Amino acid sequence: MLEIKNLHATVDGKEILRGIDLTIKAGEIHAIMGPNGSGKSTLSYVLAGRDGYEVTEGDIIFNGQSLLNLEPEERAREGVFLAFQYPVEIPGVANATFLRSAVNAVRKHKGLADMDAMTFLKTAKAKMKQLQMDEKFLQRAVNQGFSGGEKKRNEVFQMAMLEPRLAILDETDSGLDIDALKIVAEGVNALRSPERSAMVITHYQRLLDYIVPDVVHVLSRGRIIKTGGKELALELEAKGYADIIADAA
Ligand code: ADP
Ligand code: MG
Ligand code: MG
Repeated sequence: MLEIKNLHATVDGKEILRGIDLTIKAGEIHAIMGPNGSGKSTLSYVLAGRDGYEVTEGDIIFNGQSLLNLEPEERAREGVFLAFQYPVEIPGVANATFLRSAVNAVRKHKGLADMDAMTFLKTAKAKMKQLQMDEKFLQRAVNQGFSGGEKKRNEVFQMAMLEPRLAILDETDSGLDIDALKIVAEGVNALRSPERSAMVITHYQRLLDYIVPDVVHVLSRGRIIKTGGKELALELEAKGYADIIADAA
């Protein structure tokens, strides 16, 4: 599904990603862990195609096609979802309006008819119930005045509605208490399917108790220094990053 090959990327002329190789097969969940500043968020932005992130070497192949020449919106239509790739707040635009147009853009690309307003509302309400979100969210302006925890839930709600083939979640656990974390994890787990994959970026192991990854990668200074199974996350929790980085050096 996703094949990242020798990926080098710069921000403001500074090389942040320094040769990343990573393959995610359909149906797999990969966790990306690593200390602050190791390049985790940069990797997610480069995958989504955010402005200002320049790929200087290597390639990103998604379902047999290079993403490098695609705009962020085109990548989204292909099924790559990055939480927060959209403006953080959109005053005056209701969550429902925004989300329905996003859902329909993806449907159009797949050759499907628009989801009508009634079906959208019914589907949205069912997903919100699952995530224990208040229906009032639908009428509020996108992310405006949302608390940190509400934004995170909204992010998983958007993902549940868009049903992306590759979901990239960057620090979805930050700002969530344990109950909210479990609900959010259930939302992610509900999307698990043989056709869908996810990249879960997290600094801490805690989220991975609930979203159990197939593969764990440790990123340090823009390179993957270690790859393992879910037990690698526990090892990191016990030993800390310093030892793993020293072992890899
Ligand atoms: P992480 O998400 O793992 O904490 P980031 O991807 O946010 O790491 O950052 C990786 C490195 O890139 C850091 O050293 C950070 O200072 C640098 N960096 C990130 N964004 C910019 C930017 N816009 N300009 C210059 N350096 C940046
Ligand atoms: Mg950071
Ligand atoms: Mg980050």
